[in-house]
Amino acid sequence: MDASRVSPVNLILLGPPGAGKGTQARMLEDRFGLVQLSTGDLLRAAVAAGTEAGQRAKAVMEAGDLVSDEIVIAILRDRLSQADCAGGVILDGFPRTTVQAEALDALLFDMDQGIRAAISLEVEDQAMVERISGRFTCAGCGEGYHDIHKTPAVAGVCDKCGGTEMTRRADDNAETVASRLSAYHAQTAPLIDYYDGRGVLARVDAMAEIDVVAQELSAVVRQATA
Ligand code: AMP
Repeated sequence: MDASRVSPVNLILLGPPGAGKGTQARMLEDRFGLVQLSTGDLLRAAVAAGTEAGQRAKAVMEAGDLVSDEIVIAILRDRLSQADCAGGVILDGFPRTTVQAEALDALLFDMDQGIRAAISLEVEDQAMVERISGRFTCAGCGEGYHDIHKTPAVAGVCDKCGGTEMTRRADDNAETVASRLSAYHAQTAPLIDYYDGRGVLARVDAMAEIDVVAQELSAVVRQATA
């Protein structure tokens, strides 16, 4: 690696669905000038656009299962190679399997980069259904809200952009959440040990209020980037 160049800060947010990865990734974007890279968002965009990958992913996502490594890695590779990612990314929802983690290591190695920290947002399974079933998003800017934990200041109006169209995800229902949680435990949770073994793991208690988690997370990121 060229020592005269500051290497990009690449972070991974690990955690089950509803742990707050998307919300916290957006906060880190603003605070640290990094780019949020959510494979879930990229896949939903591919489904909406009707691309071949989107057509293959649609039913799998609706069932709450994991989309194939091949599709997700290709989508990630494309996005990571775009210019705005050069300063560093916050990976939200990727990697989700050991195959994806190994592919990410290889991709970053080829780009002379690495992972600065993998942060596990730790939450209890019981909290997940309530968290997920109450969430909604501004269709205009993507700001996330929750019926109980984060309501807009004026009902139905986005605090950030003033938009009035709010959307709820098709897979945010009790049945699909159960499948998503079991996919997390079977395929993604082992990555906590994977990154612990590489000496880059940090754990954050994500049961607390959003602002408290954000503060703790910022402290971890500051330490990892010092
Ligand atoms: P998310 O927005 O991260 O909750 O992801 C929504 C859905 O997209 C998941 O339930 C999976 O079906 C799919 N998905 C997102 N990221 C990945 C990934 N890294 N690997 C496989 N499937 C993914």
